[in-house]
Amino acid sequence: MRALIVSDIHGNLEALEAVLAAAGSWDQLWNLGDTVGYGASPNEVVQRICRLATAGVRGNHDKVCCGLADPLMFNPAAREAALWTRAQLSPDSLQWLRAQAAGPLPTASAVLTHGSPLHEDQYLLSTREAWLPLQQAQVSCTLFGHTHVQGGFALQRERSQAVQPLHTRRTHHGSRWTLQLAPEQRYLLNPGSVGQPRDGDPRAAYAILDDGAGTVTFYREPYDVDLAGGRILLAGLPERLARRLHTGR
Ligand code: ZN
Repeated sequence: MRALIVSDIHGNLEALEAVLAAAGSWDQLWNLGDTVGYGASPNEVVQRICRLATAGVRGNHDKVCCGLADPLMFNPAAREAALWTRAQLSPDSLQWLRAQAAGPLPTASAVLTHGSPLHEDQYLLSTREAWLPLQQAQVSCTLFGHTHVQGGFALQRERSQAVQPLHTRRTHHGSRWTLQLAPEQRYLLNPGSVGQPRDGDPRAAYAILDDGAGTVTFYREPYDVDLAGGRILLAGLPERLARRLHTGR
């Protein structure tokens, strides 16, 4: 079984289409949340992903954009984008977003969550933050998003270690890096962000879990950043949200 894992699409249709075109065939599509917010194509992205996703969880931006939470904790640009998105969303998109599950959500071969499996809104940025959820994990593989940083953590001999995909940084090409899962280890793995990477690589990020081979492969795929950024500017959203797509920060 091959599962395409996407997270933090953030209304970026150009990045999502590039990922779907590059990913090839898959049996399941798991969406780890923040489908909307920041990007200028929220309805188009929801319409695309709602037909394809076989399992998914909600993100903090999804909750704010569909009115389930207040944007009080957001920085000004995130708040402005969330309120813009809320005004754009069609009744169907709103309904779909409001129905998304809170993580953690078990599937046959992994647990899905937006932030930490201990709390859906909590960031997992360091080995220290990952240690407790790794210790408490009941399954080998937990998939998370929220940080927009591809990679994650592994628990080996009671110690939490970073998993950092090694990519060739040829920005106009796609690249991949495969992690062989060890049966005795536990993992917290992040496919990275499709629509707003923050790990210094502006290419769209995603991953594929192959449970037959026991691997998770991390991918980067170039997409039309100029077009996605142009849509953000045309929509009158904060300029910084367009600029950051070019730097991946
Ligand atoms: Zn996000």
